[in-house]
Amino acid sequence: IDINLRQLTLYDGRKVRRVRTRFMEALSLKAYAEELQRKYPKRWRYNLRILNRIRSLHRRARNIVVDWCRKFAKYIVLKARKTGSAIVLEDLEKLWQTRSQSDSKLAWKLSRFAYRKLQLAIITKAIEYQVPIIFVNPRSTSKACPRCGSELRYWHRLGICPVCGYKRDRDVIGAINIYQRALKGMCGVLGYPVNGSGMKDETRQTAPTIDEGMKITSIYISL
Ligand SMILES: [Zn+2]
Repeated sequence: IDINLRQLTLYDGRKVRRVRTRFMEALSLKAYAEELQRKYPKRWRYNLRILNRIRSLHRRARNIVVDWCRKFAKYIVLKARKTGSAIVLEDLEKLWQTRSQSDSKLAWKLSRFAYRKLQLAIITKAIEYQVPIIFVNPRSTSKACPRCGSELRYWHRLGICPVCGYKRDRDVIGAINIYQRALKGMCGVLGYPVNGSGMKDETRQTAPTIDEGMKITSIYISL
């Protein structure tokens, strides 16, 4: 299980789409900042020039992530509103799942930061534009075959189903599986159930509701 900072994966029931992120740019700035800290192991704390350099690299990295998340959130939420879709995300619980040994500490930290920022940006925009969000359980979203439900075997990032022969990239499998989880309704919709009739209080009446025929788009962020 490797972090894929390069892209995230969208699935709308028909097509899979990959969206390139700018997180790798941020990662390289942060890697450079760490390199400076290693190069001047003691001096970097006291030398103002080096310290400012390091701080500016971290700030630029942070801004790249935050800006990109905002732009993507606006794009995806406006698109969902136009097509009358709900957006499917994984529950934040995913952040506490175990990390892979092969990922560097820096990539791991940045991916968690980016993941949180992206979720928050999408939720904020979705509330602003009244687009429903469906949260699904993130547990083993890339482990089961989307076609037959058997446990997949992985060869690097490629998941292969030993039963039906289904073969796809790990991110695609994740995006399809969370889409299907949302469809099956194994989820809560911002605190109210799918087709939440019988809701009487005012806050819920104004909130976006999920219809049976509603389209959904899942956003899979590989962690
Ligand atoms: Zn299968």
